[in-house]
Amino acid sequence: MAGRNFLFVPGPTNVPDRILRAMMVAMEDHRSAGFPELTRACIDGLKSLFKTTTGSPIVFPSSGTGCWEAALTNCLNPGDKVLIARYGQFSHLWADMCARLGYEVEILETPWGEGAPLERYRASLTADQEHRIKAVLICQNETATGVASDVHALRQVMDGTKHPALLFVDAVSALGCIDFRMDEWGVDVCVSGSQKGLMLPAGLGVTCVSQKALQAAKSATSRRCYFDYGDMVNSNAAGYFPYTPSLPLLHGLRESLAMLAEEGLENVFARHRYLAGGVRAAVLDGWQLKLCAVAPQWYSNTVSAILMPEGISGADVIVRAFSRYNLSLGAGLSKVAGKLFRIGHLGDLNELMLLGAIAGAELAMLDVGVKIQPASGVAAAQAYWRTHSPAANQAAANPATAARKVATA
Ligand SMILES: *Cc1c(COP(=O)(O)O)cnc(C)c1O
Repeated sequence: MAGRNFLFVPGPTNVPDRILRAMMVAMEDHRSAGFPELTRACIDGLKSLFKTTTGSPIVFPSSGTGCWEAALTNCLNPGDKVLIARYGQFSHLWADMCARLGYEVEILETPWGEGAPLERYRASLTADQEHRIKAVLICQNETATGVASDVHALRQVMDGTKHPALLFVDAVSALGCIDFRMDEWGVDVCVSGSQKGLMLPAGLGVTCVSQKALQAAKSATSRRCYFDYGDMVNSNAAGYFPYTPSLPLLHGLRESLAMLAEEGLENVFARHRYLAGGVRAAVLDGWQLKLCAVAPQWYSNTVSAILMPEGISGADVIVRAFSRYNLSLGAGLSKVAGKLFRIGHLGDLNELMLLGAIAGAELAMLDVGVKIQPASGVAAAQAYWRTHSPAANQAAANPATAARKVATA
């Protein structure tokens, strides 16, 4: 097919040319005296991204799933109890992993389309007077349903019940797109990966571990070896890795972190919010369709899951979009298979790229019989972007102006 594939799945995301170029490197000796410079640039950049001064960022040669496993096996003892809410395929898979690794799992079953049920977390923690729950797990951005949850509020719930459990956060499809604050929110392990907000190929498990979690890891007896935090932190302290790292991916990571820092994290978040607003305008105002996320409080700024009307399969839209228009949309997973399709709006994107995806989704939907008004999504997204600006953008760039705006608002 002529032209480029339009990649709008919520990971892997588009890799900017600048990162592609940065990854084209000759191999080098990862034990050389020069190597620590690269390691340190990555770790320092990750500290800013995770918003931590005391936590230890760790990069494993894995995808995000490996970091889920590392969090559990490093910090817990066999049979320990964990608490997790399940509201989509990713929170499901993490809960499933907990069970398969032999931990006792208390699952807060939550309708797919809603996010973390804070009052039910509170009830479970309050009931747990003996403090048998050792870790509280939350998926910050459920990629399967396009639902974002409030991690800070969960920390406040934990503090309110004075529960000492560790807090583990899956931020795989949030980090570098939606605000995340390791230290301020008292997160013990944050799990992410390279192929979403970091705009890299898959292959790096990117995680961050608090001092409290590292302390727990010192005595936790679950079996682990390749994913041992201690080995990694000790090697990293000298600028090295306990085994051969992926050199191109580390070069790519350094470039990605530089790009995010140059744009400014707050500007990156504002851009995601603003672009997501245009996509939601297309879905809700233009096409008059529904999102899987049932209320605005749950809307994700990185992925929108669009429910199909009765009698239409989301899978048909996806096949049509790909085979006829060379547009890759995200599929409905598990419980919502066929019921929806997803547009990923995370990473290296702007309005015109998203207009291409919206126009392509519109063509594919019309082709398979969805009764939408032709061009209505494109028009609604355009109207949104013409009347909104990434306001925090200017605010972050110039706090003085922002303060004045608040004062006069
Ligand atoms: C993509 C994703 C994962 C899985 O990460 P892999 O890198 O595919 O292992 C986990 N959680 C969420 C929320 C995700 O979006």
